[in-house]
Amino acid sequence: MFDAASVKTNGMLQLMGYDVEKPDIFDHFNNIKFETSEFYINFPMIDLLRCRFCGSCIPFCPETALHFDRSIPRIEIIPDRCKACGECLKGCHIHIISERQRLCGYIMQGRENGNYFTSGRSNDGHDYHLPLICELNRKIQPGATVICDLPPGYSGFVKMALKETRVALIIVKPNRGWRRNVENMTALLTSMGIPYGIIVNKVKNEESFVIEVQQFCKNEKVPLIGIIPYDPLLEQGKTSIDKDYGDDLRVIFADILSKIQEIAG
Ligand code: SF4
Ligand code: SF4
Repeated sequence: MFDAASVKTNGMLQLMGYDVEKPDIFDHFNNIKFETSEFYINFPMIDLLRCRFCGSCIPFCPETALHFDRSIPRIEIIPDRCKACGECLKGCHIHIISERQRLCGYIMQGRENGNYFTSGRSNDGHDYHLPLICELNRKIQPGATVICDLPPGYSGFVKMALKETRVALIIVKPNRGWRRNVENMTALLTSMGIPYGIIVNKVKNEESFVIEVQQFCKNEKVPLIGIIPYDPLLEQGKTSIDKDYGDDLRVIFADILSKIQEIAG
């Protein structure tokens, strides 16, 4: 897909991997040399043994990442919302919120043929992903056409990664929960005002599944952008569409890109 886009846009492309828990986007890009850097950040820590559960720190958090339960009482930081900005430290009058430097994750960067390849990987067991996503956003090259790989779901860091998106593609594969996942995703994208379409990927012999998706798209008026058949060459990590793929796939990818451009307007 990246190669097809490269041919079509004839400009600088950047492939961004936001699936920081499972960064496998570059598994098929064997030729690119990546540089990996560690990404540290200061995370807030509340000393719960000294906390008076007064709630004064709550309004200081711009991300509503502090959850206060007066009935228990309890206060906690919601990892999925915290950007590690440090504002909450100012809100505690007894100064029991402190910062501790932790390894948030890693940034991998590579370059080939004038294109950029950037991905993040979270530190194992570390569930504060938002700062890593923000750091990835800062690595976007000015003027590049950016293709982003996002994980499934609609957590806070997925929303953050979607922020500047012009068109979203929902990739559907045959599995039981596809419809619920797609409905949740389309609801999120609609609420964010992001145009979207559906791509059915890796179709082998699942004709009834394809018909189901086609019906869904028709009923919900969602553009069905493309149906990509299973191709063993793709699985083997061949990435050059010009050399290795058959005409059928080339036509499918070119068609998909045209439809994306149409949706983007
Ligand atoms: S560090 Fe920033 S985002 Fe995180 S809880 Fe404190 S104020 Fe909120
Ligand atoms: S302001 Fe300080 S004492 Fe009050 S709830 Fe927040 S952390 Fe606890």
